Amino acid sequence: MSQRHLFLTHLAQTSDFPLALEIERAEGVYLYGKTGERWMDLISGIGVSNVGHRHPRVVEAIKAQVDQYLHLMVYGEYVQSPQVQLAEALVGTLETSRIETSRKGTAAGLEPLKTVPNPLPYPSGKLNRPLDNVFFTNSGTEAIEGAMKLAKRFTGRQEIVSCFNAYHGASQGALSLAGAEFFKQNYRPLLPGIRHIHHGNLNDLEKITCRTAAVVIEVIQGEAGVRIPGPAYFPALRQRCNEVGALLIFDEIQTGFGRTGTFWAFEQVGVLPDVLVCAKGMGGGMPIGAFIAPQEVMAVFKNNPILGHITTFGGHPVSCAASLATLRVIEDEKIVDTTAAKATLIRSLLVHPAIREIRNQGLMMAVQFEDFATLKSAIDRAIQRGVITDWFLFCDSAMRIAPPLTITDEELKKACEILLTSL
Ligand code: PMP
Repeated sequence: MSQRHLFLTHLAQTSDFPLALEIERAEGVYLYGKTGERWMDLISGIGVSNVGHRHPRVVEAIKAQVDQYLHLMVYGEYVQSPQVQLAEALVGTLETSRIETSRKGTAAGLEPLKTVPNPLPYPSGKLNRPLDNVFFTNSGTEAIEGAMKLAKRFTGRQEIVSCFNAYHGASQGALSLAGAEFFKQNYRPLLPGIRHIHHGNLNDLEKITCRTAAVVIEVIQGEAGVRIPGPAYFPALRQRCNEVGALLIFDEIQTGFGRTGTFWAFEQVGVLPDVLVCAKGMGGGMPIGAFIAPQEVMAVFKNNPILGHITTFGGHPVSCAASLATLRVIEDEKIVDTTAAKATLIRSLLVHPAIREIRNQGLMMAVQFEDFATLKSAIDRAIQRGVITDWFLFCDSAMRIAPPLTITDEELKKACEILLTSL
């Protein structure tokens, strides 16, 4: 039986039309098939391979860690160097002074960064701490679950606000946050106490109240088809959360690790969250996620009940080693500095009467078409010609373009040429 047949027979399928490409090897922006085919991965395995497939430094870090140890103990008990070093490096990316410096090089006319003077019902009276404490998970969904529990436990409140057209994961808690009924309706009952607001809508902020434990929000909505709110939105949202004592949780699972032209997308919106959630690109191709909060907030997991949130594999040492190498590659190779120019290059090349609009922040991009039919035939033809793109969960008329941030201008030109031919 062929591998393809075995795949269709024995692997649980999530749709009736899987791509079913058979990949033998991957390197940089390329996926290689068994019989000499080659595809450019313009979606980075859906927002994961920000530093390309099998970046040599990531592979080296993985090999070195494999020679030391694999799993030792459930999360949170032993002092494991890969976890400790990664946590320190992640916290380092969140130092306010560093973020201010990186913001200077991005958009012009930014408001000064607001820190977190959040008057929460919290033991010492006020929360004004850096995001200095990391909880590692295996995936984005699990990190969202942990962040939701943290907010409920910390504030003593039950309600969580999220956005229409948001995607935060597929478990029942994360799915409850999703803002598209279609994906939820047959899985009820889901979590009670979830309210939805429209992303970017200032009038909706009044729905965040003193009953709200947290607002969970993507800085840029990914699966909605790359939706970027106006510049007044996040400062107003931060202000509203401060007023009512709700935690502001940024889901940077898709936008983090350089995707949007700064290490974190929130660096461009002028406010800090109380909790930051990341995954996907974080692992350089290995599974890992995290939620990051001030130590005093995270401390609630220690008691009442003890072991308030636990995981066996969260922060697996091999994944942590890969993630640290990924973070260092992004820093050392100054990858985010090249992202805006690459996005501009794509915009200048992708000119075609069928393209209605291009929305992007860095290399997180949606190319808007009239309808699904036009887009789908272009995607199918591009795959035949060796370029992989996709659409979005909640926007099936826009093409997802999110290549490895390491893609060269030459590779981009080639990819755009193929996309135009496919149109
Ligand atoms: N949040 C966002 C914004 C995402 O894009 C995703 C994955 N598409 C998730 C959460 C869930 O992450 P994971 O698939 O790693 O569980």
